[in-house]
Amino acid sequence: MKAINKLINGFSRFRDEYYCREDSPFVELQNHQEPSTMVIACSDSRTDPSLILQCEPGEIFVVRNIANIVPPYEPDSMHHGVSSALEYAVKSLKVKNIIILGHSGCGGIKALMDNKLAPEDEFITRWLSILGSVRDKVIARFALDGKKASVEACAACEMEGIVHSMDNLMTFTWVAEQVEKGDLEIFGWYFDLKDGRILDYHEDSEAFEPLRPFCLS
Ligand SMILES: [Zn+2]
Repeated sequence: MKAINKLINGFSRFRDEYYCREDSPFVELQNHQEPSTMVIACSDSRTDPSLILQCEPGEIFVVRNIANIVPPYEPDSMHHGVSSALEYAVKSLKVKNIIILGHSGCGGIKALMDNKLAPEDEFITRWLSILGSVRDKVIARFALDGKKASVEACAACEMEGIVHSMDNLMTFTWVAEQVEKGDLEIFGWYFDLKDGRILDYHEDSEAFEPLRPFCLS
């Protein structure tokens, strides 16, 4: 079957079995959304936040880009897709949480680490350069100068990239204000495709530790 036909059939099933059912979330969501959480994830086809976090429509407001990067606050005349989504999430939707969701085996981070981008690349190098200082730190720590980056070095860059994006979030004054007031929390999560775990960044220990399921009882 052609890939596009599989997607068309998928939509048809979604409409019949999900959208049209009596208790469909879309009954409530036709005219408004009130997501509690913004997720900034990688565009990677394996890291769909709604699937990984088992969310229903209306629960998470999502931005996806190469390597799940938040750029720093730059109020210039350029076009800022991530910053505008962030502005809407924080100022209008008033989300309570922002999760930076990184992952293992990230192609963007691998390209950044190996300094190996396609010659026809017009946008990716500049986008990934937001993590240039992170890359340089990891290259120095693993003594990689000129050598191909190992899986471990890439994982370090993937995780430190998450922390860098968390820091960049705080350069937006209206994000920092909400965090300081206690109305907004920022999380750095790392999805490991090898074992299906999520590691959670802890600011006090400056380390990623396994995310523990929250006990509902
Ligand atoms: Zn990725």
